[in-house]
Amino acid sequence: APPTPTYYRVILMGAAGCGKSLMAKQFMTSDYVGGNDDNHEAHENSVSVLLDGEESTIEFIDPLDRNVIEEGLQHLLDAYVVVFAINDHASFEQAQQLVRYLRVDHGTDRAIVLVANKIDLVRKRKVTADEARLVAETYDCKYSEISAALNHHVDELLVGILTQIRLHMRIP
Ligand code: GDP
Ligand code: MG
Repeated sequence: APPTPTYYRVILMGAAGCGKSLMAKQFMTSDYVGGNDDNHEAHENSVSVLLDGEESTIEFIDPLDRNVIEEGLQHLLDAYVVVFAINDHASFEQAQQLVRYLRVDHGTDRAIVLVANKIDLVRKRKVTADEARLVAETYDCKYSEISAALNHHVDELLVGILTQIRLHMRIP
């Protein structure tokens, strides 16, 4: 029998309306997603990803804009995906506070990915890539720019999340 895929839980955080739910929906139809996942109870928010010859199942938890991590959930999380929309500076400020909270106050050593969404809205851009990248560097996060609406760079983000999780697992 093939080895049981590793199972990771990823929480989606960020301001209401920044595109978390649409992004999660796009993950489900990614080219990297395969397998019939018979080893796990069917979960509508989980995907099976084959990367570097190793299969992993990732469950995305989308806690409806509340941006709170319940105590019981905390120790089960393998990564935090913090999203903002490039046309909404307040959503960026909220993302910055979340990332700071996770890395500094909460003190997590798990993977954090800062995601700039809605890059299709070029002419409405209010957050530069430079200022967002600076926040990501400051708090040791990976930074990605995507358009969930156009499904642009969403596959790369999915692979990036899994790569970051695996890297952080291997750091003692
Ligand atoms: P959530 O509140 O963070 O879950 O955000 P949703 O996924 O519900 O998206 C909020 C709104 O933004 C919806 O109308 C989406 O269609 C829209 N939206 C999400 N992603 C994008 C994007 O990449 N570009 C554009 N133009 N709109 C988007
Ligand atoms: Mg939502």
